[in-house]
Amino acid sequence: MGSSSEDEGEEYLFKIVIVGDSAVGKSNLLSRYARNEFNMHSKATIGVEFQTQSLEFDGKEVKAQIWDTAGQERFRAVTSAYYRGAFGALVVYDISRRSTFDSIPRWLDELKTHSDTTVARMLVGNKCDLESIRDVSVDEGKSLAESEGLFFMETSALDSTNVKKAFEIVIREIYNNVSRKVL
Ligand code: GDP
Repeated sequence: MGSSSEDEGEEYLFKIVIVGDSAVGKSNLLSRYARNEFNMHSKATIGVEFQTQSLEFDGKEVKAQIWDTAGQERFRAVTSAYYRGAFGALVVYDISRRSTFDSIPRWLDELKTHSDTTVARMLVGNKCDLESIRDVSVDEGKSLAESEGLFFMETSALDSTNVKKAFEIVIREIYNNVSRKVL
């Protein structure tokens, strides 16, 4: 008989969604994290896509299935199916475009409306490489995150700043929430 502990081989699969206005860099954050790729030109394809990343916490395999709206938001048509079952969310704006920051409360509302569980949420100020044309200060991002109870990070999908960190803080938080429930 095997002497391995019951926990061994235990696997977790979590869905994470990325939301935010068009062109804030959602697809590039995902491709930077999952494939270490960056594209200067926005893709033209419409349709939901996801990538799966595997991590290990406490010897357990944790798979994050990360979904990208892939342009649905251009038509204000992110469907409830997109949000269904999500345990985590990256809510993204572009630090060089204030209107995308002003949209964050609307994305948070939408997330709340459609989610059926506690969602680990990270506010992400993307394109922090564009310091010279910054339109939203770090403090504004921080204080919005604090008032809404979100994690916060500025990232650059272009030069990779904090991309891995942002995803992995969310994944770790989900894992902590779930494993606390299981115990
Ligand atoms: P989405 O519509 O939110 O998925 O945005 P995309 O990932 O398609 O990116 C929109 C545009 O912003 C593209 O031209 C990207 O090359 C550019 N972009 C994305 N992330 C960054 C970034 O971190 N820095 C800079 N400078 N440009 C970015």
